[in-house]
Amino acid sequence: MIFAHDTETALVATADLVNSAGPPETLGTLDALDEFLATHNFSGSRRHDEAELRAVHDLRPRLRALLSADRDEAVELANRILADAQALPQLVRHDGWDWHLHVVDASRPLTTRIAVEAAMAMVDVIRADELGRISTCERTGCSGIVVDLSRNRSRRYCSLGCGNRAAVAAYRARRAQT
Ligand SMILES: [Zn+2]
Ligand SMILES: [Zn+2]
Repeated sequence: MIFAHDTETALVATADLVNSAGPPETLGTLDALDEFLATHNFSGSRRHDEAELRAVHDLRPRLRALLSADRDEAVELANRILADAQALPQLVRHDGWDWHLHVVDASRPLTTRIAVEAAMAMVDVIRADELGRISTCERTGCSGIVVDLSRNRSRRYCSLGCGNRAAVAAYRARRAQT
């Protein structure tokens, strides 16, 4: 494991959230949001309305900026998110999860909690000077965020789909040459 478990979980969830903007949009409905949050084990309060979904959509560009920033910019963005949320780190244990950090209360708005989780994960990435593990998908035409948690730093595509499409394109290019 490269980072602590909760850091890796939050990095993957944040990249998935950013990449859900597409194209194609994969977080277009409240049901899709429910499924996303369940997949990534998000707990805490929910409003379950269109305003909440819109707020999540509006958060995505800010998180993309955080994940795409260089080290100094990332520091500024992470610090600002934590300050805006008046983050107060507390160790908690719930729902079968061992002691881990919550930096805002579970009653705060969903987008506040998502943003601080992303910021706290980036705090670890910045401190370890491992920003090289976050990049943009190498498939032409895709701007998906790639979080590479592999030992040998081998991940180049944001999704299995992009990896397959890039392999097919490379195969066709080789065949066209011969
Ligand atoms: Zn928790
Ligand atoms: Zn991609």
